[in-house]
Amino acid sequence: MTILIAGAGPTGLTAAIELQRRHVPYRIVEASSHPFEGSRGKGLQPRTLEVLDDLGVLDRFLAAGALYPPLRIHRPDGTLTDWRMDEVHEPTPAVPYPNGWMVPQWRTGELLAEHLTGLGGRIEYGTAVTGLRGTTVELSTGETVEARYVVGADGGRSTIRRLLGVGFAGETYDTHTMFIADVRLTGLPRDAWHMWPGPDGRTQQLALCPLPGTDVWQLFAPLATSEAEMRAVVARLAPEVTLTHVGWTSQFRANIRMVDRYRVDNVFLAGDAAHIHSPAGGQGLNTGIQDAYNLGWKLAAGNDALLDTYEAERLPIAAHVLGISTKLHHRQFAAPEEAMRRDDPVLRQLGLGYRGGPLAADHRPRPGEVRAGDRAPDALCHDTSGAPVRIFDALRGPHWTLLCFGTPAPAVPGEVHVVDIGGHTDASYDITEPTLVLVRPDNYIGCVTHDPADVTAYVKNLL
Ligand SMILES: Cc1cc2nc3c(=O)[nH]c(=O)nc-3n(C[C@H](O)[C@H](O)[C@H](O)COP(=O)(O)OP(=O)(O)OC[C@H]3O[C@@H](n4cnc5c(N)ncnc54)[C@H](O)[C@@H]3O)c2cc1C
Repeated sequence: MTILIAGAGPTGLTAAIELQRRHVPYRIVEASSHPFEGSRGKGLQPRTLEVLDDLGVLDRFLAAGALYPPLRIHRPDGTLTDWRMDEVHEPTPAVPYPNGWMVPQWRTGELLAEHLTGLGGRIEYGTAVTGLRGTTVELSTGETVEARYVVGADGGRSTIRRLLGVGFAGETYDTHTMFIADVRLTGLPRDAWHMWPGPDGRTQQLALCPLPGTDVWQLFAPLATSEAEMRAVVARLAPEVTLTHVGWTSQFRANIRMVDRYRVDNVFLAGDAAHIHSPAGGQGLNTGIQDAYNLGWKLAAGNDALLDTYEAERLPIAAHVLGISTKLHHRQFAAPEEAMRRDDPVLRQLGLGYRGGPLAADHRPRPGEVRAGDRAPDALCHDTSGAPVRIFDALRGPHWTLLCFGTPAPAVPGEVHVVDIGGHTDASYDITEPTLVLVRPDNYIGCVTHDPADVTAYVKNLL
């Protein structure tokens, strides 16, 4: 029986790639007749770049995007101030992609869809989920699908969530609206993200961000409610700008909500269907991709207890991230330097993990800084023959990986890639004695131990 994924946004596409690359039967249906066309979620966080690396598609994202440009504040008195939302971080052996990366959402969708179809997948456009009883799904084409599992990746207004009767608690800020548009223009240099605060020097009234790899800009006009009002704001605040084309537009209303369940029997919610954020801080799309990355390998394994860990691991993360983006949302009424500050390291999502969760087993009497449940860092090591080993190269792909730091590999059941690391010290992993580190398919650390029997027991128990 198939797995049915509803929605081909970034979340659904990631789930589909995870199943496709494991040769697990699935279908992905998308209500719209065509891919999403807006630039909406344009900020990819460093942890998402690592996910894309594991999926084998990072190079294309790096070629399609760029670092965030500096902000340029156009003050009411005519002066200009340039500054960065966050410093540019240098790569380290443990964190090779330390900076946020800007890619318009339509390009993210396009690259994920191309990767999926390149692996042999197919997206069924113009096909909506209209009904759900257990895992029997009705489609707008009139077809009924008996699915083994269903993934509701159908966005903030999720039909699947509604049909499940799962609540979506939170707040809608009717007064916090914003007109967003993808525009072409003349009169502004593309070397900065331009912002115009109000006459009091606070609360942004217009912002124009150049989208890398295109000649398009993402325009925000928080006080406008229509294209005509947006044009009036541009004429008033930035008379040097001439809009030459207006493409995708959207009237955004701040909604901050999340579910209290990620799983109802064999139906799973993921991405915006499970949590919607303020765009402040650029967390929504990233959290959705990571929901799918957590869920994909568990669906492929088809193990009921393992699938329960999806909610246990992801629901607390969604609540945490929602708290951060909400805090940033409320900051938007401050002066631009304060409102747009994005230097909090949690935004990069590298520290998010599942420590203390149901799949984290750290058996060491004196665990180091990097523990079971944490993101598996990159590192430059050597194997027993002295040849260089980059850990992310070893982790890339759908497999489990056992890193053996200065200790022989035990016989492990199942398909686990074993990597013999020559020495028993490593700074990225904070390891100082012979240690076994078992890394999950989604590149979080499952088990850390000095005793090979712990690894064997962990793998047997799960697989
Ligand atoms: C102005 C703005 C800026 C943002 N900036 C950022 C940012 O910088 N970084 C970030 O991480 N996030 C950002 N976000 C949030 C981001 O856009 C969303 O979190 C992201 O789109 C969620 O992806 P998704 O796949 O879960 O849902 P969606 O992208 O909404 O995709 C859901 C898909 O499901 C389809 N669908 C709906 N109903 C059905 C059905 N019944 N059957 C089948 N298909 C269905 C829809 O057509 C859609 O294609 C921003 C959002 C806004 C509004």
